[in-house]
Amino acid sequence: MISVTIYRVKLVEFGACSRGLELFDAIAARVRMAGACWEWTGATSGSGYGRIKRSAKNHQVHRLMYETCYGPIPLGMVVCHRCDNRLCVSPEHLFAGTASDNMRDCASKGRLMAQKDPSRLPHGETHKHARLTHADVEMIRALLTSGASARGLAREYGVSDRTIRNIRDRRKWRRTSATGYLERDAEGAQ
Ligand SMILES: [Zn+2]
Repeated sequence: MISVTIYRVKLVEFGACSRGLELFDAIAARVRMAGACWEWTGATSGSGYGRIKRSAKNHQVHRLMYETCYGPIPLGMVVCHRCDNRLCVSPEHLFAGTASDNMRDCASKGRLMAQKDPSRLPHGETHKHARLTHADVEMIRALLTSGASARGLAREYGVSDRTIRNIRDRRKWRRTSATGYLERDAEGAQ
């Protein structure tokens, strides 16, 4: 376990740029210690990750923290948690893995139970091919708007490039006014 203050000193020692330190400080100002975790106390996305707005764009806080401390996320990799705490942004608990590493990790921790028992999911997320929650879809749209690549997101979320493009073009998923949930759009059915 490492404190925010000590980690910051390390970052300075390792030559972090002022922009990186500024971002680190912005994130660190909104975490609380929860055991060894640095738990984000700000806004969260529907999928349970911390969310922060920077330059008018939404970002996942753990991904920003990873990049601040370790550099760019390698192509095709996602940022995973060692600690199974999605709100945690401790750099020591974050690592880059493949989307399937992340899925395996989730599965081993029972987080995918809802997928095994679709009755737990709201209508619109029950289709046998649906792997994304409406919160995921919203996050994907936000990330696409902020310039993320469809291919990178496809890897990150473990779906096909086509699924991401369909989300971008709003072919596959749409919000229904009646339920507020996203439903498969017949037009975009694969
Ligand atoms: Zn943690």
